Amino acid sequence: MEKMFARSVEDAAKLIDLTEDDRKLFERVEAACDELVLPEFEKYVERKFDDQIPVIIKKHRLMGIPIAKKYGGEGARPLVHALALERFGQVGLGVITYVDVHQALGSLTVQEWGNDEQKQRYLTKAATGDVVFAYALTEPEAGSDPSSLKSTFKKEHDGSYLVSGSKYLISNGSVANKLIVFAYPEGQTKGMTAFLVDSNASGFSVEMRMEEKMGLFTSDTSLLTLDEVRVPKEDVLGEEGRGLPVAYSALLNGRLGIASGCLGVMEDCINQVRERVTSRTQFGKPIGKHQLIQRHLATMVANLESSRWLVYQVAVKKGEYDNNRSNLEMRTEVDRASAVAKYVASRAAYNTADAAVQCFGGFGYSILSPVTKHLLDTRVARIYEGTDEIMELKIASTVLGRDYEAYK
Ligand SMILES: Cc1cc2nc3c(=O)[nH]c(=O)nc-3n(C[C@H](O)[C@H](O)[C@H](O)COP(=O)(O)OP(=O)(O)OC[C@H]3O[C@@H](n4cnc5c(N)ncnc54)[C@H](O)[C@@H]3O)c2cc1C
Repeated sequence: MEKMFARSVEDAAKLIDLTEDDRKLFERVEAACDELVLPEFEKYVERKFDDQIPVIIKKHRLMGIPIAKKYGGEGARPLVHALALERFGQVGLGVITYVDVHQALGSLTVQEWGNDEQKQRYLTKAATGDVVFAYALTEPEAGSDPSSLKSTFKKEHDGSYLVSGSKYLISNGSVANKLIVFAYPEGQTKGMTAFLVDSNASGFSVEMRMEEKMGLFTSDTSLLTLDEVRVPKEDVLGEEGRGLPVAYSALLNGRLGIASGCLGVMEDCINQVRERVTSRTQFGKPIGKHQLIQRHLATMVANLESSRWLVYQVAVKKGEYDNNRSNLEMRTEVDRASAVAKYVASRAAYNTADAAVQCFGGFGYSILSPVTKHLLDTRVARIYEGTDEIMELKIASTVLGRDYEAYK
């Protein structure tokens, strides 16, 4: 049966004017997704990180989708990036997590905050996949409230820094070779700074790969330890003491990426359910002819459509802001909008995946079904890069004003 939501080059062309470069990009995204489906399925069943994700994404030259052309990337505008991530989302959130962390939390953050030398040094390699990024903010004692993190740094006579601490639940943590790490000056609770840390540096170790997760098996999640890891002064990202704005701007991009991926998840759920309910017979007819199954399908489509236009609109707004970086009002609006997009799309994707599992019946409870992974994986989209509750507080405070920020 032909898929309804294939998000092919032609589908994308119906939505936006595609340049020749966009077309070529979508063709490569399409080819990569076709190759990713089988290893993703196999690794999911084994509950292992899918080591083919980096290989296939790199092979199709898709590591640098949003990186500027002058650094060797595709220079894709946010809407094109969102559409590409939407297509990856059809394969699953394991792929999205790898790509979003490398591209939105990593590459775009260096592009926005790095100096010319850092961009030359790291973005050119990030575009080819020779540099893979991770984003290490969360710690055992600091999640929703990153200002309470315990990692520290001290400055040496030669201007370099020694960074120490523990970073928890870090996606790409054991496969990245460059990590954006956040720490406070030793003995202080102000002056958080972002560092570009090399995973080969002495004192850096992957304490463990966290494989006891409830889902998202094909994504690498690790616990990291930094024991006086030396970071040269050239590898401070942004100004010393300005780590929190760096962390938050990364999340603005990251949330839009997760929201885009969630669209793809919903599309795959609908495609899979359509196939299942037209082939599975109970009570003498395909289950798709039972009206209550049709209600599930209607809800799934409504979830997708109500999220999709929101996500596209936010991506367009992000593009406008990218051309007006000094406009702080615009920044606040895009930040709010990307939180809304992630909040709405991740919940919609979770509910859609739940409905898809229901339509699959008992087989839906097996990880061998094509939709079960979406239910297990989308649960984390409501937690990482800001929980539902933190998104709610953030959105409400934009209505009530800064005096009402609940977690100040
Ligand atoms: C699979 C996975 C991958 C991840 N990848 C990364 C990564 O790559 N990099 C990284 O830095 N982090 C990563 N994280 C961490 C993630 O961002 C955090 O788990 C998340 O921000 C929540 O923090 P926490 O787990 O400490 O929960 P807590 O902050 O302890 O929150 C627990 C509960 O309390 C609620 N809560 C907290 N404060 C408030 C408040 N003020 N008002 C109302 N409710 C509140 C939360 O919403 C939540 O429901 C990942 C997490 C997972 C599970």
